[in-house]
Amino acid sequence: MNACGKKGCSARARVTDEVLRLSGEASSRRLSMPARETEAIILKTFPLGEADRVVSFLGRNSGRLRGVAAGARRLKNRFGSTLEVLSHVQVWYVERETRELVRIQQADLLESFHKAQSDYNLSTGLAVISEISELVLPEHEVSEPMFRLILLATREIERAGTWELSLTYFAFWTVRLGGWLPRFGRCSSCQAAFGEAAAFYDRHHAGLYCSNCRRADMKPLRLEARQLAERFASERLDRIALEKSKGSAATELRNAALAWIEFHLERRLTTPELLETA
Ligand SMILES: [Zn+2]
Repeated sequence: MNACGKKGCSARARVTDEVLRLSGEASSRRLSMPARETEAIILKTFPLGEADRVVSFLGRNSGRLRGVAAGARRLKNRFGSTLEVLSHVQVWYVERETRELVRIQQADLLESFHKAQSDYNLSTGLAVISEISELVLPEHEVSEPMFRLILLATREIERAGTWELSLTYFAFWTVRLGGWLPRFGRCSSCQAAFGEAAAFYDRHHAGLYCSNCRRADMKPLRLEARQLAERFASERLDRIALEKSKGSAATELRNAALAWIEFHLERRLTTPELLETA
């Protein structure tokens, strides 16, 4: 029997036509979806094909998104230097319902961090901020505190011409905003007060431990580093001036914060290795 001559078959054909018509309408609606606009920080970009770039950005109103910047790899392109790591920009993009990537139409530079972006040493500091932000921020989730933190830390690297204090502040506050900060006064295991003694940490534990409870390969977080954390918790980064002698406290605090970030992300960060400490 020829199924196509049957009544059911032509009904099916009508249904199919209807589906095609509707999905055609849906896709033309998608094509004409209005562009959205947000203040944003460029987190990371990577090449896509010959001419395009995939751009990960944190939108102040959109949360972290990924989008395609068509033509951004061409020598002369409309994005210019706006897509550099941690650039502060205004972005216009179009969402595409069926795709994971938005389409970036335009990006205008709001604030230039050219000095930091073009200096190798400073750019390693920016790379750490970029890697951590990309990993801790869930897609599509607005995070005003992280937005402000990234911007503040980047501005200070650009202004001060060093990443040391800014990156330490960024790592500390990322841990704090993540709710991952252990208590700084008492051992996480036996509750003994640290007093003026060193506390200990590593990237396999969430806490901070006394000298009795520490594991053999844990590293010290001395009183000075814990005091620096207290200042970070209560003072703005751009108001803190670090005496040269406190450099080791900053290093200890930064390394502890990075270790807790790695513990909670359950992965190693790759960019801190690039940092050159004086
Ligand atoms: Zn203990």
